[in-house]
Amino acid sequence: MTRDPSAQAQRRARLPAASPPQLLVFIDTEEEFDWQRSFSSDARAVTAMKHQWRAQTIFDRYGVKPAYLVDYPVAAQADGYQPLREFLADGRCEIGAHLHPWVTPPVEEEVGERHSFACNLPHDLERRKLVILKETIERNLGVAPTIYRAGRYGADAETRALLDELGFVIDSSVLPWTDLRRMAGPDFRRCSPDPFWFGTDDRLLEIPLTTGFLGLLHRVGADVFPWIGGTRGVRLKATAICAHARLLDRIRLSPEGVTIAEAKRLTRALVGRGEQKVFVVSYHSPSLGVGHTPYVRTRRELEQFLAWLDEYLEFFIGEIGGQPASAHDVYCAMGAAQGRMPPPLARPNESRRAAG
Ligand SMILES: [Zn+2]
Repeated sequence: MTRDPSAQAQRRARLPAASPPQLLVFIDTEEEFDWQRSFSSDARAVTAMKHQWRAQTIFDRYGVKPAYLVDYPVAAQADGYQPLREFLADGRCEIGAHLHPWVTPPVEEEVGERHSFACNLPHDLERRKLVILKETIERNLGVAPTIYRAGRYGADAETRALLDELGFVIDSSVLPWTDLRRMAGPDFRRCSPDPFWFGTDDRLLEIPLTTGFLGLLHRVGADVFPWIGGTRGVRLKATAICAHARLLDRIRLSPEGVTIAEAKRLTRALVGRGEQKVFVVSYHSPSLGVGHTPYVRTRRELEQFLAWLDEYLEFFIGEIGGQPASAHDVYCAMGAAQGRMPPPLARPNESRRAAG
């Protein structure tokens, strides 16, 4: 089987035309590590987990049910999973899985950039790590994860087959319009933010990260970016030049490194395109502790980060007229729009609760 992430035939998934835009929040819920240094299996601290309530309080206020995509250090340590169990007990969140291979047993590979993308591991090793991650989440959070996001977006066609086999129903590992081959990662240049069905009987739904273009050339961004953002474009530094000249900037919907003004402009542009109905706000859980990510270095930046979430949600529900949704709401609505009954899903309040 090919490891090209865009090789699989895709069937576009849609919401009914009358449906308002839907807002999802996906949080890469992971250990703290030094973003400037090389990968280490020793960085496993999850001290930022005790601060997640600050963002969760904002989500609660707007009726947003975020998905915490949990990796192994969070799922395996009480300081990591305990705060999530509280949100889960009240039905205030969903739980998914997020695979950082370098801190997920068994670590049999040579740890480094290439193997930080799980899809570069031998298929059997990627599988064993994902099984251990899934079992650890089930044991400590009491719910089977059905949503997946690969660490560093390291997923491909074989990963998708694995998700199918292990009972996942939603993947969010596609980073649209982006070529990660320079770092030995996947090439998503031809992938758009449009959700699509895949797997056995089209049972699984891909919900890519919301990524789009701003700048004078934004209308042609999808056509131009594969060229300027490709190998040749990187060599020419065309991406940076275009962004600097405000011609074309590719941004993702996130409080990390994207201003609230940019996020609003991107959203308006995508809504204006008429087809985009599902918007995914993404960030990393360590950003809620000061000093763990490049995006939140000071207390003031943390307040700005939280204010971004608050202002964006108000904007999305107010000006855009959108609705907060959960990943499984979107899955069921898209399945129904396709005229089929979605399979029953494990939901937190129906599944067995974690012991103790
Ligand atoms: Zn991650």
